[in-house]
Amino acid sequence: MDKKALKKMNYLPKNLTFNDGVAFIGDLSLNELSTEHGTPLYVYDWDHIKENISDFTKAFGDETLYRYAAKAFICKELVNLLDQKNWGIDVVSGGEMATVLSSLGTLENSLFNGTYKTVREIDFFMENKGGHISIDNVDEISTLQDRASKNNVKQPVILRINLDVGAETHPMVLTSGYDQQFGVSIDIAESALKDIYNSDSLFFSGVHVHIGSQIKDPERFKKAMQECSSFLANNKASVEREIVFDAGGGFFSPYEGDENNEDLAIYADSIKSGIEENWDSEYKIMIEPGRAVVNNAGIILYTAGAIKEDRGEKPYILVDGGMSDNPRPALYGSEHKLFNISENKNSKEKLFAVSGRHCESGDLLVKEASLPDDTNTGDILMSTSAGAYTYSMASNYNRVPKSKVIGISESKVIDLIKRQSFEDTIAQDI
Ligand code: PLP
Repeated sequence: MDKKALKKMNYLPKNLTFNDGVAFIGDLSLNELSTEHGTPLYVYDWDHIKENISDFTKAFGDETLYRYAAKAFICKELVNLLDQKNWGIDVVSGGEMATVLSSLGTLENSLFNGTYKTVREIDFFMENKGGHISIDNVDEISTLQDRASKNNVKQPVILRINLDVGAETHPMVLTSGYDQQFGVSIDIAESALKDIYNSDSLFFSGVHVHIGSQIKDPERFKKAMQECSSFLANNKASVEREIVFDAGGGFFSPYEGDENNEDLAIYADSIKSGIEENWDSEYKIMIEPGRAVVNNAGIILYTAGAIKEDRGEKPYILVDGGMSDNPRPALYGSEHKLFNISENKNSKEKLFAVSGRHCESGDLLVKEASLPDDTNTGDILMSTSAGAYTYSMASNYNRVPKSKVIGISESKVIDLIKRQSFEDTIAQDI
């Protein structure tokens, strides 16, 4: 495949090339890596992730508070990389906090998000000098006040507001709108703000929205920020100092078939102009991108097992992974473009159904995959746009061990996460 054709495939890792059908990242053959490390294997083009981070930094500037959404994918090495680039992390659980802490020894650049924060997690965050906490509901105000006072801290908090600006996205990843469980509605935000302001141990530091994932239209960010800035301007008496406008995550990242996304600078301008429409004092922007940082840099390699010609209209290829390493197709019906990257395959293609190994009829990785018509048992299949919400959502369903994760930077392998052994899957049994 020539460079021009590859460039058009904006959902692939930037440093991926094909040579006679075999895929490479840098100088490393993914086929050889699959033999060396086994499959299923998650592979990240680490230099592509670095580029994504610097694209955000260029578009939003050094002053922005970057809080990468760990939920998309996290491991210690990624925390280190983000920290080197001056990015903090958006965490939603004790496990994500522990990952950050084990790399950095502090949670000071972390933002604690989520609808349910346990007292143990709140204490853990505060004990480790945690940065901002986003308040999701009014019940949290008294709990946080109590824990902050017991931990002897004045805790910076931001208030998550649920605005009805929505996002043109899959209903399962839409996180704003009246009938959604996230944040407080604007009608009660004012009294929540006053409660926070009057609380001794909490420090009101700004507002937060996250309108959903895969947002193509920058105007939605603008609208959300207009509403937030209008809300704060109307309540200026309760606002003490430099304020944070957290615009959340949800920046678009193309999958196969998606046209080119907007330049990130357009999102940055929309966010700024939405804020400045109503807010004339100092402020900082905070953003929480997840998918747009890691998704297209990641792929998953599978080995094709049996091919069943006697089932349905299309032959079924059974692969050695499935919903335990990537639950997205089963959860959202998402499609990940597959390539057969084994050597010397026919250029003529036909349709296959590609199914996972789990005991669910819904464990179909791709319902209609166009693959070389001589695709055979033992071939290596590469699933693309698979860097976000795959390993982080992986499970041990059927007690299948979680797969290995590696990165490739400048044609060298970085080991990121070990493959689980059979024994690892029973480690918690008593
Ligand atoms: N912030 C919050 C509060 C979220 O709920 C999410 C995703 O669900 C994100 C950030 C990251 O979104 P994305 O990965 O689409 O950038």
